[in-house]
Amino acid sequence: WAKAAGGDRYEVYDANRHDAQALRSTLAKGLRSALHRDDFTLRYQPIVRLADGVPIGAEVLLRWTHPEHGPVAPEISIDLAEEIGLIGQLGRWVLTRGCQQAARWYRDLGDRAPFVSVNLSARQLHDVGLADDLLRTLDEVGLPASQLQLELTESALLGPAQGPADALEALAAHGVRVAVDDFGTGYSNLAYLRRLPVRELKIAGAFIDGLTPGHSGTPADRQIVASVIALAHGLNLTVTAEGVETREQARLLRSMGCDHAQGWWFARPGEPDVLPRMLVGEGGKPVDPVPMY
Ligand code: C2E
Ligand code: MG
Ligand code: MG
Ligand code: MG
Repeated sequence: WAKAAGGDRYEVYDANRHDAQALRSTLAKGLRSALHRDDFTLRYQPIVRLADGVPIGAEVLLRWTHPEHGPVAPEISIDLAEEIGLIGQLGRWVLTRGCQQAARWYRDLGDRAPFVSVNLSARQLHDVGLADDLLRTLDEVGLPASQLQLELTESALLGPAQGPADALEALAAHGVRVAVDDFGTGYSNLAYLRRLPVRELKIAGAFIDGLTPGHSGTPADRQIVASVIALAHGLNLTVTAEGVETREQARLLRSMGCDHAQGWWFARPGEPDVLPRMLVGEGGKPVDPVPMY
């Protein structure tokens, strides 16, 4: 989680500014043709209910492999897409594909179908067409709005602009859920929690690392996690822990009253069938989630 903890994401690039520029423009070009060729893929990471280990949702994560440079971190693809004005297209592609997948789960699994949780960049939130676009997409793919969650970072939610607030209100009124991603790593101004229809806080993995000994965290992390859980519940929000890597962390989070969790301990981001496989075992029997603890 060094990257998430605030390190410079472009340290590799900074080693040589000239190469960095060249690489960026190569990637930017690649991004453009990747969109045309449909070269992106999506991975789905299960989100489980800590009380019983049942998967209730899945975060949608963008993957792109450049033909020469190999896999590109999604933060870099997203940054580049914003820079070169492709984020609208790329963001819509992610939303449409994610919703199509969720609609398939909904058709196959009914009540037990996981919701999808899609990351939105700040730029996407400011797109005036967002709410109408999204509601139309839900309609077209046949997905109930309650099966869609949007993840926004604190920095995307801050700021006085009325457009994003109206868009989120409109979406929330239809049942779309809004989650704050990487809660606690952005700004300490919490006023947006009063203004916006937020339903869930996601605790950044950097804080989960420090919950148990032997990781890079500090004793403060435990207090921070406890405080975020208390804050969420005090505001009637649910709370998800990200980056849960060990049984110990999962157990501790459950005992602290954290509602949901995701992380390598439960499942890595995978193909869409990772979800049904967790829900339905051999012969159609429900899978016993207990071994997770
Ligand atoms: P995020 O939204 O906070 O997503 C969680 C990240 O943690 C993902 O990284 C996931 O693969 C990783 N992760 C999950 N479990 C564990 C674990 O147990 N340990 C560790 N160390 N990591 C874990 P990923 O897939 O590389 O995505 C990075 C970031 O890129 C995301 O952070 C999100 O901010 C952004 N992103 C990814 N896909 C999209 C997208 O479609 N649109 C936008 N706007 N942003 C995206
Ligand atoms: Mg996220
Ligand atoms: Mg996150
Ligand atoms: Mg993030």
